[in-house]
Amino acid sequence: MRKIALEEHFTTDAMKYYSLPGAAMFDPAQWETSLKRLLDFTDVRLPQMDEYGIDVEVLSLLSPGVQVEKDTATAVRNAAVSNDFLAEVVAKHPTRFSGFASLALQDPDAAVAELDRAVTQLGLRGALINGHTHGEYLDADKYLPLWERAEALGVPLYLHPANSYDTWHNLGGHEELIGPMWSWGVETATHALRIVFSGVFDRFPGATLVLGHMGEGLPSMLWRLDSRWAFLDHRGRKLGKERPSDYIRENIMITTSGVCAPAPLLGSLLALGADRIMFSTDYPMEGNAEAVHFIDNAPISELDRAKICHLNAERLLGL
Ligand code: MN
Repeated sequence: MRKIALEEHFTTDAMKYYSLPGAAMFDPAQWETSLKRLLDFTDVRLPQMDEYGIDVEVLSLLSPGVQVEKDTATAVRNAAVSNDFLAEVVAKHPTRFSGFASLALQDPDAAVAELDRAVTQLGLRGALINGHTHGEYLDADKYLPLWERAEALGVPLYLHPANSYDTWHNLGGHEELIGPMWSWGVETATHALRIVFSGVFDRFPGATLVLGHMGEGLPSMLWRLDSRWAFLDHRGRKLGKERPSDYIRENIMITTSGVCAPAPLLGSLLALGADRIMFSTDYPMEGNAEAVHFIDNAPISELDRAKICHLNAERLLGL
């Protein structure tokens, strides 16, 4: 079955510096292997895609990318450099690669202009945002023009995990909980809920946010969100729709990146529906073999499998 994978990463010699905070979580030999694969497109990546039957990878610069750059002008310049590089890779293999742009959210106006350029001139299919930018989240008023442009261009924003702004007290003494195993998911789900409860999707009902890692836990929380939102009388906030879950179902799509288990997939299918879930690997941080074996053998209908493997991505990204 045709497969399009949406959370697949690369880096470049010029940009790998930005990934050093994340690299510190790896054993040095592991990081060396990952870095080689991040820098590679044709030696290992494409042959693996052929071997496992991944037709298209939608590529994005590895987290946290230019958003951690302290100098705003440098961040703006490097986002453009990274996007030009990505567009060249896609141009060389247009049937195998597509891409999500990097944006320097340190400068919201520049980020809007770069999203526009990336989509209309470079042919990229949206942007991948790596968590907060120096402590600011996508629900801030200054990012409303970015949502407006994404909606107008008809492209999604993929919210990818990154380290939280500070280390939470409750993680003290538990380094193992910091990062992809736990804290990134909580951080990213919270960021997504900030966007929902700020009314971003009331203002831009055609906007789409994509979450990886089977929705970062949110699909299992819909009933509780709705129930306690009503019980707490909304704490003074106002949303256009009655239930928070309405936005999660209508404005958020999720991918299977880094989650290869039937239970959360079936739960997400029941919570969100088969039109809202898309296949991904999270290469090279996760393996293609396991991700493909999982989705090929998941206990779901062939129509749902086709939606998850390629139909939903084709619709969302215009592929
Ligand atoms: Mn990832």
